[in-house]
Amino acid sequence: MSLNKEIMKKTDKLFPFMQKIRRQIHMYPELGMNEFKTAQLIKDKLDEMGIPYRDKVANTGIVGLIEGKEPGKVLGIRADMDALPITEDSDKEYASKIEGAMHACGHDSHVAILLAAAKILNDYKDKFKGTVKLIFQPAEEGPGGAKPMIEEGALENPKVDRMVGLHVGSGIKTGLIGIKEGPTHASQDEIRITIKGYGGHAAYPHRSVDAIVIAAQVVMALQTIVSRIVDPAEPSVFTIGTIEGGYKHNIIADRVEMTGTIRFLNDDVGKMKREKIEKIVAGITKTFGGDYEFKVIRGYPTAINDVEFAREIKGYLTDLLGNDIVYDVEKSTMGAEDFAYFSRKVPSVFMRLGSGGENKEFSLPHHHSGFDVDEKAMINGCAAFVKIAMEYLK
Ligand SMILES: [Zn+2]
Ligand SMILES: [Zn+2]
Repeated sequence: MSLNKEIMKKTDKLFPFMQKIRRQIHMYPELGMNEFKTAQLIKDKLDEMGIPYRDKVANTGIVGLIEGKEPGKVLGIRADMDALPITEDSDKEYASKIEGAMHACGHDSHVAILLAAAKILNDYKDKFKGTVKLIFQPAEEGPGGAKPMIEEGALENPKVDRMVGLHVGSGIKTGLIGIKEGPTHASQDEIRITIKGYGGHAAYPHRSVDAIVIAAQVVMALQTIVSRIVDPAEPSVFTIGTIEGGYKHNIIADRVEMTGTIRFLNDDVGKMKREKIEKIVAGITKTFGGDYEFKVIRGYPTAINDVEFAREIKGYLTDLLGNDIVYDVEKSTMGAEDFAYFSRKVPSVFMRLGSGGENKEFSLPHHHSGFDVDEKAMINGCAAFVKIAMEYLK
């Protein structure tokens, strides 16, 4: 039997295994850095397979190793493990049993896919050279698990040469695999602005500095960052998400607090945006006699798919699944993904795996209380990881 046929046959056979794991994790979702039961389940499965691992990497992360027949290159495969603070709205028998926690982004399926791929690759270990490193990562939805895992040596001993990962997507037809060359997920920074005025009686504005009037001008002026300052050909977002201030209709507010986010693909654009925001805030508040505080909380960097490796993988996957399944993703998303940290350390590819699309049941947006993954998607996800490993570690 050809390798492709064998991979598809083995993956199909493992569908019930993946479904069981995914549903088990789905019923008991755990928030970032608290994935203890999920980690235990992963360790139990790796023990059953006889795959050695290091646990407690960045709290709940696990790094497993499958060594091939002789030393060679090292491929890292990552699955994130965490759920979201949402109460699930579903009567399915595998719905979340935990109030206020739900796998509304499909990370449960990512774990199941990687465990099934591990099982097949472990059977194949006499057929490839080098090492597969299984990276089960906590807290993708925040505070972020990739960065601390790297800091705790997840990419060392043995040193990872290439990384792959995937994310299910409810807006994509089940089973399709999309690959973007170059930047794939945006950087996101959180910004916090405090406008400081001078309070007083609403009837005597000339004796105060009205923080609300200043804030209104700041919000509008900041809109010019994307429309007038950033190159229109550069994907870029600026959003003020919260604004809070004031006490009563007849009191002039002495302070207004705002929070927002900036998103970008290009590090230089990010740097410029951070600088310009502060300049605009400073200029307007000073003009009107106020003052300000400005803070940037740096988020995940831009995730970048290595162009050469992306093309290599597209070749492998087209050979396995055909032209109808594997497609080029044209646009980056302005969503962020902490796989980015891996992609900034080693040449990496992060794929999109369709898990919904035409089917209404599975097409609700990610982070929605009714979100669900079409589990059939896991088959192509698992097969893709196995194929990439077998080809890259030939
Ligand atoms: Zn998410
Ligand atoms: Zn996610």
